[in-house]
Amino acid sequence: MIQAQKGTKDILPTESYIWQDMEYKAKKIFSLANFQEIRTPIFEATELFARGVGDSTDIVNKEMYTFEKSERSLTLRPENTAGVVRAFIEHGFSRLPQPVKLWYKGPMFRYERPQAGRQRQFHQVGVEMFGSAEPSADAEVINLAVKYLNELGLNDLEIEINSLGCPECRKKYRDAIKDVLKPYLKDLCEDCNFRYEKNPLRILDCKVDSCKAIFEKDEIQKVILGDFICDDCKEHFDKVQEYLNVLNIPFKINKLLVRGLDYYNRTVFEIKSNNLGSQNAVCGGGRYDSLVETLGGPTTPAVGWAMGMERLFSLISKSEPNRLDVFVVSENTSEAMKIVEELRHNNFSAEFDYANRKFKKQLDKAAKSAKYALILMDDEIKSNTVTLKNLDTSEQINVPRSSYLEKII
Ligand SMILES: [Zn+2]
Ligand SMILES: [Zn+2]
Repeated sequence: MIQAQKGTKDILPTESYIWQDMEYKAKKIFSLANFQEIRTPIFEATELFARGVGDSTDIVNKEMYTFEKSERSLTLRPENTAGVVRAFIEHGFSRLPQPVKLWYKGPMFRYERPQAGRQRQFHQVGVEMFGSAEPSADAEVINLAVKYLNELGLNDLEIEINSLGCPECRKKYRDAIKDVLKPYLKDLCEDCNFRYEKNPLRILDCKVDSCKAIFEKDEIQKVILGDFICDDCKEHFDKVQEYLNVLNIPFKINKLLVRGLDYYNRTVFEIKSNNLGSQNAVCGGGRYDSLVETLGGPTTPAVGWAMGMERLFSLISKSEPNRLDVFVVSENTSEAMKIVEELRHNNFSAEFDYANRKFKKQLDKAAKSAKYALILMDDEIKSNTVTLKNLDTSEQINVPRSSYLEKII
């Protein structure tokens, strides 16, 4: 027997209605703010991710599904910002009135270690806003994330923000971090040593306990908590906070927040949900003012975020899937077909028995799946009536064929 691959999962009808709900609510909330959906291909040139996600990241170094076809190196998208930026450039979106506001949803692919409980094909929903360097844009996308999570019933949220500064002030910070960490290099893990040259700020993201213990040292904390950002970056960050206050969005500043991707500058943020009693990161994002240029487009500031939909799925409370409105019980297939058509035409979900089973079996099936059984046996057909049985109350009425629709509520 051939089975689904490790790290992949079928979304069965018992769960797909919740996925549809998550997608519907995304469309609803983002449309209200005039964000429009973009759908980019699932595979792209490998180089797009090497340049766009950053070749010092675990994603690019260890986790990509890369394959050759006609001597081209292709990769299943491990995230969607790079693809959206590629499309932005390719379709000349910088010539449109700015800002350009986009959202997406869909499957992403990373070759994760299965013991981490992560899927190799997983889903993300995200927004990207191009063309505004203003702090109001940062506040707007954070606001959208909060509104979407609220719409999903996730209300107990913790929002953490930080500013990574611009390339100039970030360099000062990076140099200071490198200086203070240098004596500890031999005690830091292999990944941290690798990051030390490539992207030292990402060292602070390390989850290895022995590394985390080193970051707690006073001299290192002093550098981490020190103010390196320049006046312009500080003013930008202050404004972001001011606007979040205007929007009544509570937040905390977390100076350790650096995010896993190389391309962020200025505002970065993370949202945690306290639903179901434990704390879970549900959203991460930030500003990436140089990415469009890095990928060959005109200088275009941008800010956005992504959420893992499997995580959202695990946190939201699940309602019962919708029941069928009407199951037509009849031993006359042609008559059953006709009345099912009529029901569907009037926006009631309806089906009949496709297996030619006897009356009693059909009624059992109706009781398991529907709100009403519409009985259409020889007596009813002869008298041009239907018998409508409410399967919650077991109440049964016989009504003329011409007026049964009004009786279904
Ligand atoms: Zn700066
Ligand atoms: Zn480490």
